[in-house]
Amino acid sequence: MIKTKLKDKLKEMLDKKQAILATNFYNFETLKGILIAAQQEKQPIILQLTRSSIEYMGLQNAYNMAKNGLEFYNIEGWIHLDHGDSYELAEQCINIGFDSVMFDGSELDFEQNIEITAKVVKNAQKLDVNVEAELGYVAKLGQSSDKVAFTEPEDAKIFVENTGVNALAVAVGSAHGFYKQEPKLDYDRISAIRQITNTPLVLHGGSGIPAESVRKAVYNGICKVNVATETKNIFMQTLQNILKNNNEIDLRKVFPQAIDAVSNLIKTKFKILK
Ligand SMILES: [Zn+2]
Repeated sequence: MIKTKLKDKLKEMLDKKQAILATNFYNFETLKGILIAAQQEKQPIILQLTRSSIEYMGLQNAYNMAKNGLEFYNIEGWIHLDHGDSYELAEQCINIGFDSVMFDGSELDFEQNIEITAKVVKNAQKLDVNVEAELGYVAKLGQSSDKVAFTEPEDAKIFVENTGVNALAVAVGSAHGFYKQEPKLDYDRISAIRQITNTPLVLHGGSGIPAESVRKAVYNGICKVNVATETKNIFMQTLQNILKNNNEIDLRKVFPQAIDAVSNLIKTKFKILK
């Protein structure tokens, strides 16, 4: 399959007011569930790996699994480092063949975030790798939602101009993990950042945001929607339910139901973005 560079695909999404789904995988089974959904729905997908998942599977192994999977299922897809927390990790992923890396400097001060992001971009450009960065602060899993800092459009403009990033994760009312109350996204802020930067924006914490809100965010400039918590959760929930009343030791009879649950979840996410 001929693959468009992710930065070009994201620009195309920006022009069309559409978004690509990005979801994390954690093992062979979650990857398989995601790929089956993408194949059946004929949709492109961004496969994401965090540092924890890379450490769990091994960088080369995780990369190979994703790359082979995309070829095996004949899917237009990209492999992306999610929340890369150092220049070195981003560099390793770029060198191994990732299509895209995120450098998450959201906990650094503004100048430091610009400095390291720009360095990652410079390195990534040599291999035409897409770079996503985060400005503002989207609460991490388990953190209280008051630990947020909304992205200011003026800052975003300075950040994009000084780093050359291809995509920008913005803090506009979402948070990682499940929500206690329905999140209120700031559509005017999304639109203002989009206007002033003309850069594809990324919505983190997509798990549990109502479909209508996601669509409205996409209409205003979100080009990539991340879903991780729900994927992990449905896989484990399904396994726990099966194993409660079951002593089956053949894992090949147990895992397929959890893989199907992941597939069904991802299909619902594709439908939101269609
Ligand atoms: Zn995230």
